[in-house]
Amino acid sequence: QDLVKHFPLRQFNPLGAKRAVRAVEDVSLGLYPGHATALVGESGSGKSTVARILARLYDPTGGTLRFRGEEVKLQGGAALRQYRRHVQLVFQDPFSSLNPIHDIRYHLSRPLRIHGHAHNHQQETEQILALLNRVSLTPADQFIEKYPHQLSGGQRQRVAIARALAARPEVLLADEPVSMLDVSIRLEILNLLLRLKDEEQLALLFITHDIASARYAAETTLVMYAGQMVEGGPSEEVIQRPKHPYTQLLLSAAPDPDRMGPDGKGGATLPARGEIPSLINPPVGCRFHPRCPHAMPVCRQSFPKRTDLGGGHWTHCFLYGEGQTSSQQASGAST
Ligand code: SF4
Ligand code: MG
Repeated sequence: QDLVKHFPLRQFNPLGAKRAVRAVEDVSLGLYPGHATALVGESGSGKSTVARILARLYDPTGGTLRFRGEEVKLQGGAALRQYRRHVQLVFQDPFSSLNPIHDIRYHLSRPLRIHGHAHNHQQETEQILALLNRVSLTPADQFIEKYPHQLSGGQRQRVAIARALAARPEVLLADEPVSMLDVSIRLEILNLLLRLKDEEQLALLFITHDIASARYAAETTLVMYAGQMVEGGPSEEVIQRPKHPYTQLLLSAAPDPDRMGPDGKGGATLPARGEIPSLINPPVGCRFHPRCPHAMPVCRQSFPKRTDLGGGHWTHCFLYGEGQTSSQQASGAST
């Protein structure tokens, strides 16, 4: 709820002003068992930062985190360890997320031991074999002794997913889990995540820069731009009837929305990274206003409140609101 993340800049600044990268501003989202939520945005939109806050790898600058309705305290301790077990992250790059000097047994035995799921070598082996089977690395008894360099990118990502499952999480945060893989195997890995989501009733957050994959993989789609949440709702609704001008821009970049698929064919290419504004001194108000064809004076003054459009679809845009504003930019703009 209302998550904020500012990274202070500590370099010498002759004006003495405090500067920060305002990576995430007032972002709220919910994740639910057996439900996939896609978080879509260009690189630099803050989506990975949101995942790292949810995984408690970053402390938020502001906002509240709740798990099963209970606030997750920012301090460490047993409650935080429990939370970290329940919320697991799969990273984008399967080539750097596994340690090259250790075999697959080692990678999967560590979370089993840390979280107390295996009490002897035999239990551990049984559970590792079961995990490898669940991610379809078979025959499992051959994979258990392999090293990362002996595996393809897709196989490594399966190991990374098995490692996340070893903790027996309730929430799986997958940060661009297929974007570094060969196009030919992206769909397999995506389908694996979706199957596990259903089988384990995982709450899945699927982070992607590709809005076509969001439509394929997730019941709910959320769109971020420059650290702000701009639109969300049922994926079909958001993608068929986008309301926010940024979502409309994303979709207009797609040659043919009906043919888009997670295999990469016909998919949308997001606008170039350089077009995202600097988050050190982001535009005041709606951060999309420098690029928005509908920008009005109010858009340069304050960030629009969330407007509910019906059917669970909502947006933050003055085109749909009643001109109400949030206090976010009033506190964030004058550094
Ligand atoms: Fe455009 Fe204003 Fe809506 Fe932002 S709030 S998307 S600038 S119309
Ligand atoms: Mg990222």
